[in-house]
Amino acid sequence: MVQVNLINFTPNAELVIAAAARLSSSSARTRELLEKLSPERVDGLLCQLISSGHLSTFEHVSFTFSIEGISRVTSHQLVRHRLASYTQQSQRYVPLKELHYITPPAISTRSELEAEFQRAVKAAHQLYCDMLEKGITAEDARYVLPSAIETQLVMTMNARELMHACSLRLCDRAQWEILQLFEKIKVEVEKVAPRIGAELRPKCYRLGYCDERESCGLFPTREEVTGS
Ligand SMILES: Cc1cc2nc3c(=O)[nH]c(=O)nc-3n(C[C@H](O)[C@H](O)[C@H](O)COP(=O)(O)OP(=O)(O)OC[C@H]3O[C@@H](n4cnc5c(N)ncnc54)[C@H](O)[C@@H]3O)c2cc1C
Repeated sequence: MVQVNLINFTPNAELVIAAAARLSSSSARTRELLEKLSPERVDGLLCQLISSGHLSTFEHVSFTFSIEGISRVTSHQLVRHRLASYTQQSQRYVPLKELHYITPPAISTRSELEAEFQRAVKAAHQLYCDMLEKGITAEDARYVLPSAIETQLVMTMNARELMHACSLRLCDRAQWEILQLFEKIKVEVEKVAPRIGAELRPKCYRLGYCDERESCGLFPTREEVTGS
């Protein structure tokens, strides 16, 4: 089961973004802006930046998460988001003594398939352990391990990339596990930066329509909106 903890973040993230935005068109010093901007003004500025697409100011603030209990399927999808920093527990250096793995709900709800699935994963892990005992290194023995195996990592993303990643991964088209992961990331961000957290949404909210072939129902498709 995916667990996400926010372990570090830019303090006063929304104020920092707003002050940076104001600085671009003000003769005031940054420190002054940081002291003077009211919460309402910060909110208004963030709103403006988002609606006008001036998103570079969101790169000044970042969030670091510890992520546990995701499969290697999902960690592989996650690291495709290139504008972030990742440190993942190594299967080269850390032998996998205890078996923890993810079973997709579509399989866990089919008892006959779940039993087969478990047997296959356990058999692969048993062979892995046998190979370690026979002197094969963890880095080579791991080739037999399935993608269901759990992993843990630390990820740092700036707010702009978080908004982008969420626009893709909170979409109904994303796979269930990475969707759950980003739902938890959103909850963590909302605790410390509610305005930014509110912007962590599927892309259709920004577009005003669904650009996928079929809509999940949240927004009509582009074709339905434009008629072409
Ligand atoms: C539903 C879904 C299905 C997917 N299916 C597949 C699949 O079948 N096969 C597959 O390979 N991948 C697949 N992906 C992964 C996808 O192709 C992207 O690799 C992933 O979503 C990362 O997004 P990104 O490239 O927009 O941005 P990020 O890496 O998060 O970067 C953010 C933005 O920065 C800019 N950027 C980053 N790097 C560069 C660069 N080098 N040059 C120019 N601009 C850059 C781009 O504007 C980019 O959108 C899928 C993703 C989703 C959400």
